[in-house]
Amino acid sequence: MLASKLPNVGTTIFTRMSQLAADVGALNLSQGFPDFDGPQALREAVARNVMEGRNQYSPMTGLPALRQQVSAKLLRCYGVQRDADSEITITPGATEAIFCAVQAVIRPGDEAIVLDPCYDSYEPSVELAGGRCVHVPLALPDFAVDWQRLADAIGPRTRAIFLNSPHNPSGALLSRTDLDKLAGLIRDREIYLISDEVYEHLIYDGVQHASVLAHEELYARAFVVSSFGKTYHVTGWKTGYVVAPPALSAELRKIHQYVNFCGVTPMQHGLAEYMAAHPEHVEELPAFYQVKRDLFCDLLAGSRFRFKRTPGTYFQLADYSAIRPDLDDVAMAEWLTREHGVAAIPVSVFYQSAPRDMRLVRFCFAKREQTLREAAEKLSAV
Ligand code: PMP
Ligand code: GLN
Repeated sequence: MLASKLPNVGTTIFTRMSQLAADVGALNLSQGFPDFDGPQALREAVARNVMEGRNQYSPMTGLPALRQQVSAKLLRCYGVQRDADSEITITPGATEAIFCAVQAVIRPGDEAIVLDPCYDSYEPSVELAGGRCVHVPLALPDFAVDWQRLADAIGPRTRAIFLNSPHNPSGALLSRTDLDKLAGLIRDREIYLISDEVYEHLIYDGVQHASVLAHEELYARAFVVSSFGKTYHVTGWKTGYVVAPPALSAELRKIHQYVNFCGVTPMQHGLAEYMAAHPEHVEELPAFYQVKRDLFCDLLAGSRFRFKRTPGTYFQLADYSAIRPDLDDVAMAEWLTREHGVAAIPVSVFYQSAPRDMRLVRFCFAKREQTLREAAEKLSAV
């Protein structure tokens, strides 16, 4: 019998809840993905590239035209000059980028700090590299970094810290002040940052994203990860990128070239063409999703769920303690799916040890207006 290298890993909550939603015919507001398509011109560009025969391997680091478009976007959005050849790598999804960054920096015995609740791929990636995650809970109710706890968690074996802003599942944002505090904490240490910024363009109420890319001191030790899947409503295309200083990019690429070698070619052609023709897409994204957030929240205002509008991502947390305080959040998510026809994600699964009285579920509002209306109607009847 093969002894598992990941004995604590089972089927992810995203697979389980999407499957349950399909089985019982519930509206699926669980796993994060849009129920609408990406821009037509983008899909046509990919289809055309497939038909015109751009179907063989792309360069290992990614199509030059797409890396240049990413570089141009970073200059426009964050005012930084990141070199398309030596600092930007296209990957088959942000997940692969995170995995490769972890393999590049974590050695057996190293520790990586994660801020709970955290995305589910971080810890297995660290364990496969022979490392161990040290879990530091974010401070409730706003999921803010507890700087004292983070400082206390940094030890002689700490080799990496994961950041995720905007944060899945809470939507919380790191500010420039937060980044400055972090810089102060790790200034004298060889500690790398894996900054998961896949929701970089999903920020509301006029707030600007404080990217690690725009913080020179932190960037010098960072892998900054993003996902075209989120930004262009095409999560199934599994295409992302990672930006890191040349020496870090070189190490990441050594791993990427043996995990996947390259990203999917026609997707990269289509994305490069679309980004060149539609630079406004990313600027329009906050307003596009803010309308959905506000519609969903307005419709839920009369329900028994309690919530604060999310500042970022396409997830809205909701407290259900006025409805079924007797149920833990996994049971609540299943009950909502089976009995009320709306699937959600429990929040405790993103923790090593969640607060026992936590009564939060996550809804994804990357949905058509009609889906949001139907879901809100069902949830208001709960
Ligand atoms: N990080 C976070 C926080 C996410 O929510 C996701 C989306 N599933 C990813 C990484 C992975 O993105 P991708 O689908 O591009 O691999
Ligand atoms: N990021 C998505 C979410 O948080 C899920 C992606 C996945 O299923 N791995 O819902």
